[in-house]
Amino acid sequence: AKKAGGATYQFFTPELNRRASDRMWTENNLRRALANDELELHFQPQFSLDGRLLIGAEALVRWRQPDGTLIMPGQFIPVAEDTGLILPLGDWVLGEACRRAAELLRHRTLLIAVNLSAVQLRRPGLAERVAGCLSAFGIPPSALELEVTESVLMDESDLVSETFSRLRGMGVSLAIDDFGTGYSSLAYLKRFRVDKLKIDRSFVSGLCAGNPDSGAIIEAITGMARSLRMQTLAEGVETEEQYQCLAKLGCDQGQGYLLGRPMPYDDFLAFVRREARA
Ligand code: C2E
Ligand code: CA
Ligand code: CA
Ligand code: CA
Repeated sequence: AKKAGGATYQFFTPELNRRASDRMWTENNLRRALANDELELHFQPQFSLDGRLLIGAEALVRWRQPDGTLIMPGQFIPVAEDTGLILPLGDWVLGEACRRAAELLRHRTLLIAVNLSAVQLRRPGLAERVAGCLSAFGIPPSALELEVTESVLMDESDLVSETFSRLRGMGVSLAIDDFGTGYSSLAYLKRFRVDKLKIDRSFVSGLCAGNPDSGAIIEAITGMARSLRMQTLAEGVETEEQYQCLAKLGCDQGQGYLLGRPMPYDDFLAFVRREARA
């Protein structure tokens, strides 16, 4: 243990100890999970705000324990990133998303969005890997969107910008996730051309509820996006009031509990079929 200024010990407090052993548990078991096919993708619908049409879904990973309990990504993605397990995990997510996309495309034209970790972008060969998945399942590049967070754009190396242009050159679209929460500057948007900004739900939650500042931020983002020919999607749309405000503020698309929760594949397929009839 390290003694930090006086009698307070920073390490090995019960709390830190518990967290360390949680991480160890997660790391050990995540290896097994990958080998035993314990991961699954859930799908959360995305809608156009104008017309409220189903346009796609975001694939979100979950870990189904042998006893049936579901572990959410917030509990294992950070550990996977620290240990490098995110690489095989990310490969699995990409392949599974493409497999599901191929099935869904038989029913409706949809855009399937997949989350990428910065670690995946820093490994050479991502564009080839994506191309391989698309052709293995016979899906058009226009059906796939890749979501990255702003932190990826701070990467100084040419690898990330080259990967971005190769992916876009193939026809895969790119979205900035949690837009507005990172440290990146708007200058990065010139260097890394993307197709869509996903406006973080922290800007959406205060909307209309007597918070003009949130509205002003969203209006600024949608205005900038429009002049740079990018689309905007608002995350965390939970109320009808937020939906209406976002539509008025010029936001193109929305995703959130109001429009549909993340759901297992079979439920999402039923959802797609219902939407097609509506
Ligand atoms: P994210 O990419 O920002 O995903 C959106 C999260 O917000 C999801 O949490 C979703 O369930 C939740 N959400 C959706 N609508 C609403 C709403 O109306 N209100 C509220 N309060 N929350 C909403 P989830 O599934 O727990 O995922 C958490 C994070 O884990 C994701 O955040 C993403 O960063 C990461 N993640 C999930 N799947 C993957 C994956 O396959 N690969 C990687 N690298 N990261 C993933
Ligand atoms: Ca995302
Ligand atoms: Ca997000
Ligand atoms: Ca997030």
